[in-house]
Formats: sequence, C-alpha cells, structure tokens
Amino acid sequence: MALASPRFKPSNTLNKVATNRTTLQQGAVGRAVHLVQMALLDLGYTMPNSTSNANYSPDGIYGEETKRVIKQFQKNSGTLVDDGVVGQKTILELDRRLSGFKHRVKLHFRSIALTNVPFQRSLSNAEVVFGQYGIKVEFASGQSIGLSADQQELFKKVDQECDWELKDGEFHELQGLGSPAPASDILVFHVNTFADNTVLGCGGHAKNRPACTIAARAGAWDTAHEVCHVLLGSTFAPVHVADHRNLMHATEPFLSTIPVLTDRQVTRLRASVCCASM
Ligand SMILES: [Zn+2]
Repeated sequence: MALASPRFKPSNTLNKVATNRTTLQQGAVGRAVHLVQMALLDLGYTMPNSTSNANYSPDGIYGEETKRVIKQFQKNSGTLVDDGVVGQKTILELDRRLSGFKHRVKLHFRSIALTNVPFQRSLSNAEVVFGQYGIKVEFASGQSIGLSADQQELFKKVDQECDWELKDGEFHELQGLGSPAPASDILVFHVNTFADNTVLGCGGHAKNRPACTIAARAGAWDTAHEVCHVLLGSTFAPVHVADHRNLMHATEPFLSTIPVLTDRQVTRLRASVCCASM
C-alpha cells in the first residue's frame, strides 16, 4: 500500500517499508528514522535521549529508546504486534494517524526579477520540507511587479544590509511594492541581487509585515530557508544550525536529500502567527 501522509511520502526508505521491501529496526540510522521519531513525538510520545542533541533532533538513531516507544505505539494500537520493528503494518498505521496537515502557512510571491531555480521547484521544495512536519505550504498569490525607470535603477541591486527588523531603507521600500498580504501570511520577494553577491536571501521585514527576500541566484531550498527564518522569528536561537542536513544550515549545501528540521525548530515555527492550525 502506498503512503499517503505528506510526512512520509517523499521518503524512499519509508515507501520501501510500506511496500514490505524493508523494515526499520534497532541499529538503523538516518532521515527515515528521524521522520518516524518526529511522528512519534507528534503523537505525544516522549523521547528524551533521541532529542537531547539540539543540532540534529530527533537524532535519527534507532536505539533502545526508539524501539521501546515503537513497542508502546504498537501495543497502544491494539492491532499491531509489539515487536519494536517498523514494518509495513506499523508504518501504515503511523501514516494513517498522521495523514493530512495540522498547520498551514500561506505564501504570497511578488517578483521584480526571475529566479534561476524555476519558481515551481522552489515552491514544491518548500511544500516537501514543511510537509514532513504536517505543515502545509500554500501558494496564496503571485504577482510580477512592474517598476518605473527610477525603481528599476534603485532595485537593480538591494544595497541595504539584511536586518531582522526593517524600519526604513531599500528593503522596506521594496516590501511595500505590489499588493499587500494579511499579517498572518508571508510575502516572498524575488529580486535580482544583493550588494553582497554571496547573500542569497534575507528574512528581515517590518514589524507585523512578515516577508522575506530572495536573490535570483538563490538555490532550490532557499525559499524554504528564508520562509523558515520568518516563521522562527528574530528571537529563536540558534539562527543557523551546524548540521548540514538541516534546512537552516548557514550556507546552502547542494543538498541531494530533503533537508530536515529539529523538533525545537518545528515547535517554534508551529507557534508562529503565520502558521495557522487547521
Ligand atoms: Zn539563513
């Protein structure tokens, strides 16, 4: 049977488990284990050992604790054999319990420049990353902004430095362009470039006007990264995570796998005013 939940669907390993081609058990390590652990946390199980490292948490290590919690989940289901192994029936039961989205983030795109990465890909990447945690990313509106000659000259390159809270300046002016969005939604601006050519995005915005800005040469996961900055807010620490598998790693690695978030990041972004329960 095929997996239905947005959390598990993108994982090749979990699809193999769902079609009875492999199992996850004690000793297994990696993203698939991380996703199963996150699912268990969302179902209310506590896993202090697996969540003790803030850098990559849950840790993706199928140890004693994960085995014990899986056994508990199996026992509680009333129908599964409590062998502590994630096989076809167990993954399908987890999938069934966690199908659908629990939260929603609405994005409004405003562009004055085209991006190197096709827009659809950036959007679907954001959908996949946040979908792993039951958060639905929704395209709310898109608009290509026509600029006057003066504005074209001004916004050829955004010279202002990226600050969390913008009060004035070029970013502020930029983010006032185009149709506004509700304060519970996030505006995503596409621009040519920043003065510092190595900067690919900025999560800074004016108070109560959630927005981020993406440079044309930004990578495939950068939209998700900047949106995540907005959702985490200016007080969340660490701003960037050392683990290169995390979406919030400082410099975008050319990730071939889908980035993950830590349970602390997920808890925080679910609490954002821009992340509505559904
Ligand atoms: Zn960043």
